Amino acid sequence: MIRVGVNGYGTIGKRVADAVAAQPDMEVAGVAKTQPNFEAHTAVERGYSMYAAIPERAPLFGDAGIETAGVVDELVADADVIVDATPSGIGAENRSLYASYDTPAIFQGGEDASVAQVSFNARANYDAAWGADSVRVVSCNTTGLSRLVAPLDEEYGVEKVRATLVRRGGDPSQHSRGPINDILPNPIEIPSHHGPDVQTIFPDLSIDTMGLKVPATLMHVHAVNVTLESDVTAAHVRQLLESQSRIYVIPEGLGLDGAGKLKDFALDAGRPRGDLWENCLWGESIATEGRDLYLFQAVHQESDVVPENVDAIRAVTESADAEESIERTNRTIGVGL
Ligand code: NAD
Repeated sequence: MIRVGVNGYGTIGKRVADAVAAQPDMEVAGVAKTQPNFEAHTAVERGYSMYAAIPERAPLFGDAGIETAGVVDELVADADVIVDATPSGIGAENRSLYASYDTPAIFQGGEDASVAQVSFNARANYDAAWGADSVRVVSCNTTGLSRLVAPLDEEYGVEKVRATLVRRGGDPSQHSRGPINDILPNPIEIPSHHGPDVQTIFPDLSIDTMGLKVPATLMHVHAVNVTLESDVTAAHVRQLLESQSRIYVIPEGLGLDGAGKLKDFALDAGRPRGDLWENCLWGESIATEGRDLYLFQAVHQESDVVPENVDAIRAVTESADAEESIERTNRTIGVGL
């Protein structure tokens, strides 16, 4: 059993903990939190041992009726792997803590790529993380683009990717984010930083990205144009993408015309928290013209990186190859619509 500690139990951390708990070869060693809020109570109800992320705040947990098993250092010492899901920038600050206990660490996409030895996407570069001491699971948008680029590059060769990212202003619980009534080129500089982030996975890829932020919380939507190295047909591309386990090619006729209905669909399907771990790619949008491919896909920012974290844990512990890990993760959490 791989004992996994989760430091930072928020949007990503709580989902990763539940996904880890569903694995037959892993167990949650504990979770570390800064405060005894509603998520802390949920963690305890789910049976996760609670550790104080900030030792001086440990008494607050007792005051709130939550028993702690210790402080974060003890969790790091006890765990075989730590998943750091703290807010952007805190992961880098925690790096020395993990190194001091020789505990391999999985960081998230809000961190700079330099935080870890390797940036990771299971479909694209699983083997690069094999036995690594530190791995960064790339951001939600970079994960969505990497899952798309990997099969296209293998099948046809990719000459150039151009993607426009229509980004949600914030997650549903982030009430102070925005815009609340605007459409912002964001980042306004072109190309945006997303392209270079995809290049941490595909160093030789030619990619330009542009970003906008809109008053939405549900998902990001990507408008993608890929120039391939050979002529393609839409039908062939569709077949290829339908064969990818973490891409859901939305069939025509279901009325899934946007992120709102996709989220409803996930809730109706009984998905935990209404999560959509797969890229949701509109089949009807797949269009080709010579070597040019066009399509739209939506990415659920709160959950698409979750199966990637589980696979990263297996890669750093050298416990399963890519195919086996991806299959096991998908089966146990229920990826595939
Ligand atoms: P979040 O704010 O929802 O959760 C972070 C949690 O860490 C909170 O519970 C916070 O209280 C806690 N925390 C703060 N300081 C801490 C510390 N010193 N030690 C331990 N815990 C601490 O953030 P999130 O959205 O889950 O993001 C976590 C990481 O995942 C970031 O790098 C982010 O960029 C990345 N990410 C986020 C999304 C997304 O859309 N939410 C998608 C992909 C990747």
